[in-house]
Amino acid sequence: MRAEASFSRREALKFSLAAGVAFLVPSTLLGRPSTKRHEIPVPWPGYDSVRLGDLGITTLYDSGVKLDVGPEYFAVGQPPEAVEALLSARFLPTTATIENVIPALVDSGEELVLFDTGIGSKGESQQDGQLRERMVRSGYDPADVTAVALTHLHPENIGGLLIEGAPAFPGASQYFVGEKEFKYWTEEASRAGQSQDAVDLVANTLEPIMNKIRFISGSSEILSGIRPVEAFGHTPGHLAFEVSSGDKSLLIAGDAATHYVVSFEQPKWYSPTDMDQKGAAQTRLHILADVAQRRIPMIGYHLPFPPLGFVDKTDTGFKWVAETYQLSL
Ligand SMILES: [Zn+2]
Repeated sequence: MRAEASFSRREALKFSLAAGVAFLVPSTLLGRPSTKRHEIPVPWPGYDSVRLGDLGITTLYDSGVKLDVGPEYFAVGQPPEAVEALLSARFLPTTATIENVIPALVDSGEELVLFDTGIGSKGESQQDGQLRERMVRSGYDPADVTAVALTHLHPENIGGLLIEGAPAFPGASQYFVGEKEFKYWTEEASRAGQSQDAVDLVANTLEPIMNKIRFISGSSEILSGIRPVEAFGHTPGHLAFEVSSGDKSLLIAGDAATHYVVSFEQPKWYSPTDMDQKGAAQTRLHILADVAQRRIPMIGYHLPFPPLGFVDKTDTGFKWVAETYQLSL
């Protein structure tokens, strides 16, 4: 009883000191982003950590950008009124969205595996990705990353692999890349009409790490407790990764479901960013049904921060249920 009383006094003191500091020090000095009217809010502190069995799972807010987009961005070929009706019903605007970019870090004690790497440097006109800073803030050193796994080779997934041409995670001895995805971008993308810029970006970004790339085909474990899951469609060789510890599992779903309302409530609708649109829709249905049926948590690369939650089956589709404290107890 006494210990409890003194604990709560100490906590109360700590709290009042922290509150005092927060009032006295301008928020920018604390590293907290100011929310000016023209900026989108940045989640503080930019990382979220939970436990899955013996694993530490951390999501890291790399960046977010406001996109001025209409119904056709959410659903190619659907009646605009139907898309607008869904967005409006869920209290969302119909002329813009925020696209987050949120890599994940899995810590097994032996391996520290980074899944996707953010946008990297975008030059002076746009904000750079904050992945490495957020990683430091979360208590990890970028040099401690032992392996990197890529869900696919889009710019916002590979952009943070290098800093000024050198590996941004110098301790990483293995880079896991889907063989089908790699072949597409290095052998078929130009023929399939992809821009030379996109093809060059993949080649230039992977070149300095090429001797450390491990190509993935099939679904055998790549590291203890980490298994690739074919999720082709968003890109030709897009992968998800299932992470397990004991009897607990979690799916790192990459871009299999990119919007927390549209992708879940209307999984058959597809976005112009899905390269094989019918295939992406099929994969989305399959992945969401599997995660819902197994009642395991899922992480999505573009979902609202923290992008960790559960998938509930409804009569007509699915519903995203954000994780609150299920993985903290
Ligand atoms: Zn993508």
